[in-house]
Amino acid sequence: MDVLQLDVSGRPQAWISAKEAAVLYASDGIAWTLGDAFTVLRGGTQRRTGLQSRIELHPIVAVRGSVPSRAWRQTPALSNPKLFARDRQVCAYCGHAFHSDDLTREHIVPTSRGGHDTWMNCITACRPCNGHKGNRLPEEARMSLYYLPYVPSLHEDMILRGRRILADQMEFLLASVPRNSRLHG
Ligand SMILES: [Zn+2]
Repeated sequence: MDVLQLDVSGRPQAWISAKEAAVLYASDGIAWTLGDAFTVLRGGTQRRTGLQSRIELHPIVAVRGSVPSRAWRQTPALSNPKLFARDRQVCAYCGHAFHSDDLTREHIVPTSRGGHDTWMNCITACRPCNGHKGNRLPEEARMSLYYLPYVPSLHEDMILRGRRILADQMEFLLASVPRNSRLHG
């Protein structure tokens, strides 16, 4: 299970492994936590007390330290897995759901015609639809979009990136995802 790391103000920073979280706990790097502990890590026996060291891992941890001010303005990096997750594995042209292997990153305005490789110009398409559209604009190909692209927020990006997300983590992240996001679907 991964742990959701926040900065001290509650802004999501990263998914970290249980091991990485344990290092933060052990070095007193955690400011506060959210959610019930989901596992307990046991370490060596402490010579002074004779007790085995024990770290309770929480699903969400906020780390000590200053808050970088530019982080809010950052646009999440675009990747195919995140794009397909944003679009719920549905082809924007035929409206059918596909396995990731059968999906492509489709540029609404083709890159050969000046289109950018950005969240707002990219949409999920199945291979046949992408091939049919080719080097044309949607209106030239007489293809319309079933849904529109958008730029995911920082919280939404964490959901798109997560592998197995615990209920406490999902609740925390979804609370800050805009209502019009498809993740609320
Ligand atoms: Zn399609």
